[in-house]
Amino acid sequence: MKLKTIKDVDLKGKTTIVRVDYNVPMEGKTITDDTRIRESLPTINYLIDNGAKIILMSHLGRPKNGPEEDLRLNPVAEKLSKLIGKPVIKVDDCIGQEVENAVKALQAGQILILENTRFHKEEEANDPDFAKKLASYADVFVSDGFGTVHRAHASTEGIAHHIPAYAGLLVEKEVNGLSPLLGSVKHPFVLLLGGAKIDTKIGVIKAYIKKANTILLGGGLANTFLYARGFDVGASLCEKDKVELARELMIEAQENGCELVTPGGAIVADEIGDDVITADIEITGVEGNMQILDLGGKSTEKYIEILKTAKTIIWNGPVGLYEKKPFENGTKRIAQALAEVEGETYLGGGDTLDALNKFGIEASSFTHVSTGGGAMLEFIEGQELPGIKVLGA
Ligand code: ADP
Ligand code: MG
Repeated sequence: MKLKTIKDVDLKGKTTIVRVDYNVPMEGKTITDDTRIRESLPTINYLIDNGAKIILMSHLGRPKNGPEEDLRLNPVAEKLSKLIGKPVIKVDDCIGQEVENAVKALQAGQILILENTRFHKEEEANDPDFAKKLASYADVFVSDGFGTVHRAHASTEGIAHHIPAYAGLLVEKEVNGLSPLLGSVKHPFVLLLGGAKIDTKIGVIKAYIKKANTILLGGGLANTFLYARGFDVGASLCEKDKVELARELMIEAQENGCELVTPGGAIVADEIGDDVITADIEITGVEGNMQILDLGGKSTEKYIEILKTAKTIIWNGPVGLYEKKPFENGTKRIAQALAEVEGETYLGGGDTLDALNKFGIEASSFTHVSTGGGAMLEFIEGQELPGIKVLGA
């Protein structure tokens, strides 16, 4: 698909309203990972260099009912200001008089950031009046929050029905970077899927059963498949209500000649912690209070062997509870191995990127590292994403 991008429009003196994805991980009021803010800088700098006025908008977290102090964008505004080396004006709402005044006073090259758009329920409801209100502040809408383009919300989709919409440089980079996966790719083609839950990954498994030679399963989601295969998973995270679905997917894989691989061994423990006792055992030995919390050593090596022979690899989701040291090895070893394989490597997912950062692995070691989790998966499933559809030329 051909995108209209900010390079296709004269921005001088125009007011732009940019949807960024500043849904950053926070501990209290501290940002623990600023990747998403850094990823937005090329677009913001481009807009500054081309004489535009800049209004930024984003959601943060999941506010339940109106404003929540911990979910205000003030720490984000501060961080952005540091990273870009310019003042950032912050207002305490995303619509209303204060916003109107700030927009009126805005000069070319200045940055204004609006408050968390999800403080208004109209955002997720994609309310047309709310979208129109947001649009009224600007001449041009720039879609650059790739992590949210799979959502048809007012700030990602609705707004584009009121003012001309263009892709920012991040959305452009993501679409160009991921598009090769929608065409004919080189085989062997391997999908490595981990993470906690099956729910968000069903779509991609279904789509790639028909395309990939091998799907390697890890993380909590592999447990449900192990359970469906008749193994005792002890006290592991396991979605027993998804077992039927897991069986269907296994049958579908078989019919399509796709090998769906579950781990033969696991790191287990009776509890989760930084210095708990663990054991590396065969899956057949899991029972009772044991929780499967990482790939076993031998399984990790087996997965790596398969990944080394692949020509195209997609990886989403840590294969273990990598946040805790005793369960980080599988994810770490696999990330390190993928950084060196010959095949093309496409990675994505919030926690997957967090794991890369944690282990000090450069994004430049891979063919494409996506800032999107759900958005990346839906994009590579071949779905039409609402926030991208509005950018069609
Ligand atoms: P991503 O954000 O990269 O798409 P997910 O959000 O799907 O990844 O999953 C990441 C989460 O899955 C992490 O918090 C990790 O601790 C958890 N996880 C991985 N393996 C297990 C496991 N065996 N048991 C429990 N949680 C797990
Ligand atoms: Mg995640």
